[in-house]
Amino acid sequence: MKIPFNIPYSTGKEIAYIKNAISSRKLSGDGEYTKLCQSFFENKYNFKKTLLTTSCTDALELAALLLDIKEGDEIIAPSYTFVSTVNAFVLRGATIVFADSNKDNPNIDVDKIEQLITPKTKVIIPVHYAGIACDMDKIMSLAKKYNFFVVEDAALSIDSYYKDKPLGSIGHLATFSFHETKNVSAGEGGMIVINDEQFVKRAEIIREKGTNRSAFYRGEVNKYGWMDIGSSFLPSEITAAYLYAQLQELDNIQIRRIQIWKQYDDGLANLKNKIALPILPEFARNNANSFYIVCKSLEERTSLMSYLSNREISTAFHYLGLHKSEYYKNKYKGGELKMADIYTDCLLRLPLYYELTDDEVISIISAIQDFFLNKA
Ligand SMILES: *Cc1c(COP(=O)(O)O)cnc(C)c1O
Repeated sequence: MKIPFNIPYSTGKEIAYIKNAISSRKLSGDGEYTKLCQSFFENKYNFKKTLLTTSCTDALELAALLLDIKEGDEIIAPSYTFVSTVNAFVLRGATIVFADSNKDNPNIDVDKIEQLITPKTKVIIPVHYAGIACDMDKIMSLAKKYNFFVVEDAALSIDSYYKDKPLGSIGHLATFSFHETKNVSAGEGGMIVINDEQFVKRAEIIREKGTNRSAFYRGEVNKYGWMDIGSSFLPSEITAAYLYAQLQELDNIQIRRIQIWKQYDDGLANLKNKIALPILPEFARNNANSFYIVCKSLEERTSLMSYLSNREISTAFHYLGLHKSEYYKNKYKGGELKMADIYTDCLLRLPLYYELTDDEVISIISAIQDFFLNKA
């Protein structure tokens, strides 16, 4: 029985919706399915304005354009994140100021942010790792005090909450991903959330190649033209149709993922002196984006991975701390980021997807138990 790390889930309705999109004779962006997806998020999570994009990477690039990021601006972000979180801002000439992660989980350590703020700080990007909320009250109050913007990288955070607020509804802007590895997918896909009213109009223009085509389609202007800089960030209706089928099943998907997550958490609880399990702060709700463990060393993680792989169980480590990346290491001017290094070397993600069965989870748990307790 081979257990892959991830299987993208299809609800069964995707093909029917894609067929509908084809028969509607409107396959480019901003058709009916795009509107249905956007309304879904705006209604369910109280996001002020949402725009589908072709990826979370694109949504982040749109955010950087929208915030007029230019050379010399400083962006504070965790080192332990995906490249796109910061690459979008590097493309605009920004300098990235990397922050370390928490001891309890890989989220940005909010107590270390204030010392990184300078008059050039323009944006901070909290990344809700594995869908676990960052301490947003502290981050938003720093933003207010020092007058900078907050862009939530909520790529992993669909249907997750900070206190009673949905992730993605708190920062000035937020970005989501519908890549096939996330809870809900469209193969590739993303979304920007605009919670700060002042950015709504311009976001639409930047997303439409710098034109006011969206206003034209709504009949607000009688021709459309070049208004601003921009790019092509709209997904086609085929992507939106696929995504809408997934969104309709979101509650079911979440129930199953949370069951699997709890099964791992209970089944591995006796190993707590050997490995660290995810620690959720009391303000964070669990969206079961991933279940990870933190080993004691890189050597231990490597040998656990190959032990599991010999039993046909695929696992995956995650980000490589960006401050030590090939691209950024010579540009990095900050100090040691101890926790980012630890997660880079020691964090391991276990299979977690809708179709994973209870029996498969049991066999993964018992393989890990064997590794730590029965191996010579
Ligand atoms: C997956 C991911 C992204 C990128 O998402 P794409 O839709 O693949 O561009 C960005 N940030 C984080 C934290 C991610 O996990």
